[in-house]
Amino acid sequence: MFFYYITANNKSMDMKSIWETSLKTQEKEYDFLKSDIRRDIVVIGGGISGILTAFGLTEQGYKVTLVEAEKLYGGVTSKTTAHICSQQGYIYYDLKKNKPEGWAKLYFSSQQQAIDEYEKLIKREKIDCGFERVNDYFFTEKNLQKLKELYGILKDIGAKVKFYDSKSVLGFDTKGVIKAENQAMFNPLEFLAQLKKIFEIFESTRILKIDMKSKILYTKKYQIKANKIIIATNYPIVKLKGAYFLKLYKSHSYAVASKEIEKSLNGIYNSDVDNGFTFREFNNKIIIGGLDHRTGRVNNNFKKQKLKEIAKECFNAEITNYWNANDVITYDGLPIVGRFSKKYKDVYIITGFNKWGMANSMASSLLITNLIAGKQNDFEKIFSPQRFNFRLGAFLSNLYVSIKNLIITPLIPAFKSYKNLKAGEGKIVCYNGAKKAVYKDDKGVYHICSPYCKHLHCQLKFNSNSKTWDCPCHGSRYDIDGNIITSPTVEKLDEN
Ligand SMILES: Cc1cc2nc3c(=O)[nH]c(=O)nc-3n(C[C@H](O)[C@H](O)[C@H](O)COP(=O)(O)OP(=O)(O)OC[C@H]3O[C@@H](n4cnc5c(N)ncnc54)[C@H](O)[C@@H]3O)c2cc1C
Repeated sequence: MFFYYITANNKSMDMKSIWETSLKTQEKEYDFLKSDIRRDIVVIGGGISGILTAFGLTEQGYKVTLVEAEKLYGGVTSKTTAHICSQQGYIYYDLKKNKPEGWAKLYFSSQQQAIDEYEKLIKREKIDCGFERVNDYFFTEKNLQKLKELYGILKDIGAKVKFYDSKSVLGFDTKGVIKAENQAMFNPLEFLAQLKKIFEIFESTRILKIDMKSKILYTKKYQIKANKIIIATNYPIVKLKGAYFLKLYKSHSYAVASKEIEKSLNGIYNSDVDNGFTFREFNNKIIIGGLDHRTGRVNNNFKKQKLKEIAKECFNAEITNYWNANDVITYDGLPIVGRFSKKYKDVYIITGFNKWGMANSMASSLLITNLIAGKQNDFEKIFSPQRFNFRLGAFLSNLYVSIKNLIITPLIPAFKSYKNLKAGEGKIVCYNGAKKAVYKDDKGVYHICSPYCKHLHCQLKFNSNSKTWDCPCHGSRYDIDGNIITSPTVEKLDEN
């Protein structure tokens, strides 16, 4: 029964993460919204960022209501690999190069503070979630010079780091490795399940529209009038306001977990190999993540196989779980957390974690709590939604893909018939004279939906790694029957 509860949000049953299949603590089921209500602070989104923010604000004496479209922490948070790190790839190298003096150090402090806060909270609340302080090893197979420069920056900003020249790490012949102390890992779902829910919660309550001016949230039947609103839906569920669609995009990652292995990893590992493989262990099982790509822009069916091979080659391990999800990326590598815009001062936003959402969701909770309390927070400016967050090259390439999938591709008719689909295949094809997104399942049954995303109407692409329809523009995802997997969409796909 409970098993069904935690997996209900993950439409594909063979895509469960190791956290979902091993969760011991039972979360209660929360009611859905049944009438119009008025509340003080409303958080939209019950992932790790929404829950920590609701918790932090409630602890400070605020009355908070959290509204979740499906079930708590069934979104991207259930698919994380849960390294809680301040060492985050080349971020400090980029910040040093592209941002004002001092920003790299500020960002580092925000992340280190977040790790410390987790430790304090977990100890204080006696949460049994395998939280462990570990060293993080970041290695490269090719960028020695860049890694050395990064090391210099890390030392300058006060990180406890050591550099090792070429060294074999987990079977990879590296050119160099940075060891960072004081990092951490945990079981994120056990942490969230055991964290006391001291605030009001509505589940199965999707917000369809936000009236920013009047601060009213609309569901299908009811509305919530709020004094303050916090949007923590991973990618913000607004369409054009704030122009967030120009500041963010989504990137996909894949992960596997294995059966128990003999050797111990003694730490967590990140690399720049193949867009960034990551490694950690959990209960003597190995978890490998990586193979990142822009959501909706790649459709090759080898991701699982590749991760499986690495598990075998490096650890002689058989895999038990395979899963994938997407997270929100910003052009400058920093999250977007703070007031939604100058105009809507009572609306706050939390997004753009760049796949470092564990430390950043804690940092976001601390920042939003301070902003609402009118307290000073040293990190406000580096996380500010109003900061300059722009890279011309990345922006233009994004614009090109958006125009292509929004305007050009929808104009091209589908010539191929659905009848040519093989079992297990999904394509945009001609179905009864119209262009449709069609998936043929293993029993030969066709699943037919509209091929256009309900967010901004871009034409969808099939992802055969996850058997989902993914939007190449802003990263909404749908299952084969058009049900929502991930925001920013708030509506399922039109049917046949
Ligand atoms: C494979 C993978 C591995 C990762 N590994 C790491 C790692 O090792 N370390 C790390 O720091 N980070 C990692 N990340 C990133 C991290 O997992 C995410 O940044 C983080 O979980 C995002 O949390 P969130 O609360 O923003 O989003 P979510 O968990 O997606 O929560 C958002 C919630 O909002 C709800 N929602 C959406 N729309 C609506 C609506 N209209 N109305 C109401 N509710 C709505 C959703 O249902 C969802 O529950 C990884 C990400 C991936 C994909």
